[in-house]
Amino acid sequence: CGIFAYLNYQVPRTRKEIYETLVKGLQRLEYRGYDSAGIAVDGPKKTDTDSNQNTIYLFKKKGKVKALDEVLYKKDSLDLDEELGTHFGLAHTRWATHGEPSAVNSHPHRSDKENEFVVIHNGIITNYKELKAYLINKGYEFESETDTEVIPKLIKYVYDNRENDSITFSTLVERVIPQLEGAFALVFKSRHFPREAVSTRRGSPLLIGVRSEHELSTEDIPIQYNSAHLKEEEKNSHNRPDCSSAIDSVGDGRAVEYYFASDASAIIEYTNKVLYLEDDDMAVVTDGKLSIHRLRRQVGENPVRAIQTLQ
Ligand code: GLU
Repeated sequence: CGIFAYLNYQVPRTRKEIYETLVKGLQRLEYRGYDSAGIAVDGPKKTDTDSNQNTIYLFKKKGKVKALDEVLYKKDSLDLDEELGTHFGLAHTRWATHGEPSAVNSHPHRSDKENEFVVIHNGIITNYKELKAYLINKGYEFESETDTEVIPKLIKYVYDNRENDSITFSTLVERVIPQLEGAFALVFKSRHFPREAVSTRRGSPLLIGVRSEHELSTEDIPIQYNSAHLKEEEKNSHNRPDCSSAIDSVGDGRAVEYYFASDASAIIEYTNKVLYLEDDDMAVVTDGKLSIHRLRRQVGENPVRAIQTLQ
């Protein structure tokens, strides 16, 4: 029902500030109605060699966002004053369509007990039964009754069967999306790709707020077409726009914050610079740089996404 995700890049925030931002984002979406809520954040990072360094913690609770708020601050192993220069957190309020309202059915959903891939989803996956049967047959274990859970399991399936270790987070998601039928807005996080964000939509709304002290040097973000998805004649006729840096001013390690949300009301207090994703757009943040990829290209479509100023 409600999606909110927050990525701070080179902007030091304490855990407490990050939790507050995520919880507040959910509270701004409360008016849409929901039955449960959940959050995904990074676990503690003690040293660079710490095997815990890319752990993901999930907090899920039936009922009010307030109830989630209480469990969030009680986790002893998490130091609320710890400063995180770059971090990516997910938050979700659920309006159950498949599976009763409960903690285990609430989002984020995960690929496995190690939380290798986690996802928040608005919408309905109409072919989830077939996908679930396929994945169970391949040995993947499900813990919830939701339609959503096939998504993190599918991405893990693609990851487990990857041809090499240089595969990117966005490629994994690109391979999963064509398998899904129905409506969705999705935001993905992974312990294999720490501090990276991948997000896409079809039929359910999603926008991204951008906040930076530096002037954003480009107002329009050219789309990257993944040529693997284009037909041969499209590849030749289409002049691929050069967008090695999508938002130029933040592509070189400068501080920026991104807010992903299903509704502008969750973002407006942080920034009025927003970018609305269109169906089959995929937004990727790597090293603080936002780029938009396109899963499918339609004839005559606009090859840029404008950053708009909310009034
Ligand atoms: N269909 C999903 C579920 O039941 C997502 C519902 C929502 O949009 O909140 O968990």
